Amino acid sequence: MNFVEVYIEHNTLALNQTFTYACSQNIQVGCRVKVSFGNKECIGFVQSIHSQSELKNIKEVIEVLDQEPLLNEELMQLADYMSHYYVASQISCLKMMLPPALRPQSDRASIIYEDVVYKNNVSIELTKRQQEIVDTISFPILASEFRKIAKSVAKTLLEKGVVRLEKQEKHRQLVESSTDKKVVLKPEQINAIQTIQNGKESVYLLHGVTGSGKTEVFLQLAQSVLNEGKQVLFLVPEIGLTPMMIQRVCARFGQNIAIFHSRLSDQEKYDQYQLVKNNEVNIVVGTRSAVFMPFSNLGLILMDEEHDNSYKQDQMPRYHTRDIALRRAAYHHCKCVLASATPSLESYARAYKNVYKLVTLSNRINETMPDIHIVNLQTEHSHFGISDSLKRAMEDRFEKNEQVLLLLNRRGYLPILRCQECHEIMTCPDCGIALSYHKSTNSCVCHICGNSYPFLNTCPNCKSHSFFQTGMGTEKLEEQIQTMFPHQKIIRMDQDSTRKKNAHKKLLETFENEGDILLGTQMITKGLDFERVTCVGILNADSALVRQDYRSSESAYQILEQASGRSGRGNKKGEVFIQTYQPEHFVIESVKEHNYLRFFNQEMKYRHLGWYPPYSYLCSLVFSSNKVEETIKVSSDAKEFFKEFKVLGPVEISMRNKQKRYRILLKSNNLEYLNKSVEAYSAMYNKLHRNVKMEINMHPMYVEE
Ligand code: ADP
Ligand code: ZN
Ligand code: ZN
Repeated sequence: MNFVEVYIEHNTLALNQTFTYACSQNIQVGCRVKVSFGNKECIGFVQSIHSQSELKNIKEVIEVLDQEPLLNEELMQLADYMSHYYVASQISCLKMMLPPALRPQSDRASIIYEDVVYKNNVSIELTKRQQEIVDTISFPILASEFRKIAKSVAKTLLEKGVVRLEKQEKHRQLVESSTDKKVVLKPEQINAIQTIQNGKESVYLLHGVTGSGKTEVFLQLAQSVLNEGKQVLFLVPEIGLTPMMIQRVCARFGQNIAIFHSRLSDQEKYDQYQLVKNNEVNIVVGTRSAVFMPFSNLGLILMDEEHDNSYKQDQMPRYHTRDIALRRAAYHHCKCVLASATPSLESYARAYKNVYKLVTLSNRINETMPDIHIVNLQTEHSHFGISDSLKRAMEDRFEKNEQVLLLLNRRGYLPILRCQECHEIMTCPDCGIALSYHKSTNSCVCHICGNSYPFLNTCPNCKSHSFFQTGMGTEKLEEQIQTMFPHQKIIRMDQDSTRKKNAHKKLLETFENEGDILLGTQMITKGLDFERVTCVGILNADSALVRQDYRSSESAYQILEQASGRSGRGNKKGEVFIQTYQPEHFVIESVKEHNYLRFFNQEMKYRHLGWYPPYSYLCSLVFSSNKVEETIKVSSDAKEFFKEFKVLGPVEISMRNKQKRYRILLKSNNLEYLNKSVEAYSAMYNKLHRNVKMEINMHPMYVEE
């Protein structure tokens, strides 16, 4: 009899410990077991095995679910590391490593099997017709196909033992065939490839302006690693970018690819996972969770658009894909290339200090960056959100059969109050960030410090009494633009229009073939490469510029620069119209000059002043429950516990599931100490406050919630 230490399937930190069970069957670490927990049956994951236990009345394992361990040594260690680094439960990290069908959880997806017919190696006398049919079929064949061809004799052939049925896991290839574009590399591209290939450093930041041919650099780097017989992981941001990038990688490498992203069905995820595990493919292209694929011989990690928010998961375990990628690269002694036209401040700061090796592509393939026109909304007339100059440019494009992209930033939905007279935005006097208007209480709330101000209907700047809320949805905009341009075909792309599987890809195809205007949220700023797009309009740049969060300016720069980057990528010159009330804002000016360094230097000063990342580490703790007083008390106690750190809050943030939520934000420059303290607090907390839920987010990308 053995004793096994088992993590129970539930993600909660309150159960972040192992439970002991007895097991008389053969078992290994890393296998799943069915056990009884409380009065229920549930699934557990074996963490360790002992031959003795001091405990009394130990229950026995009900069933051993795997014969072989699901995770190798590397991934087991990685889960352990993640659990500590992000203060997440071990089981939540273990689950992340596996496709849904293999997760240790009761409601896991089932694996789909199908019947396959094999020919037996026997000599049995057959009728002429039976023999003919056997000869025409190439075995093995799907049972459904076999029945179609063999018709009435199918049953007899099976009964006679000429053929046999076997159950097999149903696998499907996701790779589509498309044609590859052969290019002659530009000197800058060659230089980048050689620097990375010959470099001694392990991490590279490839900073290439939009349209500089980064993808081609990736493909060439990948090729040489594949030639050595090693595996390549190619990470891309969520959905937005994926269809075009997947196409390009498939066009180059054909069948040798597994594709992994959140829109796949559970069965598809399982198939792709098996392709990697069985060493049937050498390349994985995928979003966030692809970073956990079971590689055995990884030779290169490429992370495209490394600044993208979708790389951070917003549920436990709240990991950042970059952290995991760097760790896996270190384990496999392989190089990791982070790439972006608009690198995150953290990454660029590291490259600046030579922690990462900086590689730059400073020219576009077509050698012209688009011209940026700043449209001052304070002085220029606009109609339906489209300024006169943008409208004229659009008309001109349609005449030339070229295409237009219109960006309406998602943050435009947030109710921010602006004075109609002097255009001043209501901001928090302490934090200098925009206040959000709360209609129910007729007050304005700062989402950073939590202070609330009654809405007095008087502008603090010019004393006028007229305000308007900025923000218009994409749907309404589509309607209005259609009346403005009744003959043009508009494609709208936002969360609503892309909900269905493959909707994203279809919309892009329609736009490429017959569309005139692609209108949408941030989604349309990501990675699109359309030759005929020569005009980009950013309708409301201000909604991005308003500081609601320490990272606001960074994401504003990224959105504006990336959106601009979609214009004029082919052989026609591109133009960009940025509509704003703040034409002199440093983000706008940096974008106008295509000057990342200007943006970087100025933003670093702000981060330094405010003691924000990359100058400090953050951890956000969010408390929620039905009982408001108790939640406030608990979050204040937490503040007291962490008094050695700089603590912001508690701040009331938006409700979830009808529950009030309070957040405190911890700042520190000692990561290890911060981490240990949060872990210690979490362990203690889970013994005490069962009524108030605590969510821990180490290194949050955003503090505004
Ligand atoms: P980025 O990712 O840097 O924005 P892409 O990799 O999408 O840029 O490249 C922009 C366009 O230029 C693509 O259509 C690509 O096929 C093309 N391209 C890349 N390298 C070359 C080259 N050396 N010669 C000609 N065209 C190229
Ligand atoms: Zn404030
Ligand atoms: Zn005013």
